[in-house]
Amino acid sequence: LNSMLSGLPTTIFTVMSALAARHDAINLGQGFPDTEGPADLIEAAAAALRDGRNQYPPLTGVPELREAVARSNARFYGLAIDPASEVIVTSGATEALASSLMALLDPGDEIVVLEPLYDTYVPMIRALGAIPRPVRLTPPDWSLPRAELEAAFGPRTKAILLNSPMNPTGKVFTSDERALIAELVARHDVYAICDEVYEHLTFGACHVPLMTLPDMRARCVRIGSAGKSFSLTGWKVGYITAPAPIAGCIAKAHQLLTFTTPPNLQRAVAMGLDKDTDYFATLASDMRAKRDLLSNGLRGVGFDVLPCDGSYFVVADIRPTGFAGDDMAFCRAMTEHCRVTAIPVSAFYSTGDAPNHLVRFAFCKREEVLTEAVARLRAGL
Ligand code: PMP
Ligand code: GLN
Repeated sequence: LNSMLSGLPTTIFTVMSALAARHDAINLGQGFPDTEGPADLIEAAAAALRDGRNQYPPLTGVPELREAVARSNARFYGLAIDPASEVIVTSGATEALASSLMALLDPGDEIVVLEPLYDTYVPMIRALGAIPRPVRLTPPDWSLPRAELEAAFGPRTKAILLNSPMNPTGKVFTSDERALIAELVARHDVYAICDEVYEHLTFGACHVPLMTLPDMRARCVRIGSAGKSFSLTGWKVGYITAPAPIAGCIAKAHQLLTFTTPPNLQRAVAMGLDKDTDYFATLASDMRAKRDLLSNGLRGVGFDVLPCDGSYFVVADIRPTGFAGDDMAFCRAMTEHCRVTAIPVSAFYSTGDAPNHLVRFAFCKREEVLTEAVARLRAGL
């Protein structure tokens, strides 16, 4: 067996969802909406299946979706993207990340990552024989330590992996932080893989892709996900925007990993990306109301709640509750006694000495579910 994979624990999302199910708990752990995505997209996907579009689509994605991705880049970010050579459709952002890392990294290359981080990054990097160089953000505002970031770049650095809006912190990187990252990427002549799956879920300033900064167009790989933009996380349709030479190499990785993505879902997602700007504004404002509902509720039952400017997630400090134990013990106890489940933030660190007083709550749930969760916490904490 592969030594890295055989030693890898089952993802914390599966562990906590199983625990939630066992205790009939409200699952504010794994990040998925508890409502359906847009009915017209679901209808379009079903109609495409019935139309007999069920054989292999083109390797880089159906033209309708690649064109829609290019239009979306132009509409939201003013980026001019060639749909034929600069867009690749993948089976979720997860495959987009794997294909991008595979295309950019050789064994022994270093890649800078910012902690806490999404749990697939580090194992994927290690599986390629490359070396993650973690830089820790500083809570409660998750600021980027400048000197440590600069020190993480060296002669073996090939890329940085940037996730904004960020899972699990809800952080949206500031323009100064973006400028610093861009400056380091240019100075060290490296690439940036930008995981932007929550691009349409920001609650203050709009999302700004690193790719739009000076000198960044040729160095950035931008990753989006229909799962997040259309509340259809099970569909696993992702899309990559990258300059043609990089996209060509990513297409080779995609060819090895999955080769294609279901064509009916691709056609429906193309329709989604062309939705009017109101759809995207409402997606964000509905999610913002859920963030406020849960954050206020958590504050009301005694947590310190950290700032959250985007994504599905808010982080809470458990210390004011007086619990004697770490974040994992807290999440287990909260599931058993309050029947509400969250995720320990220590699971998002690559080394053992992570902060262990923070837990992540997903607020992408119906209002009545969030209200009931807060009521259970009030009664049980
Ligand atoms: N990146 C981040 C930051 C995520 O939170 C997720 C969660 N789903 C993914 C990537 C994977 O997205 P997908 O479901 O499209 O594979
Ligand atoms: N991205 C989701 C989260 O962070 C979960 C995805 C998964 O279960 N792999 O909760």
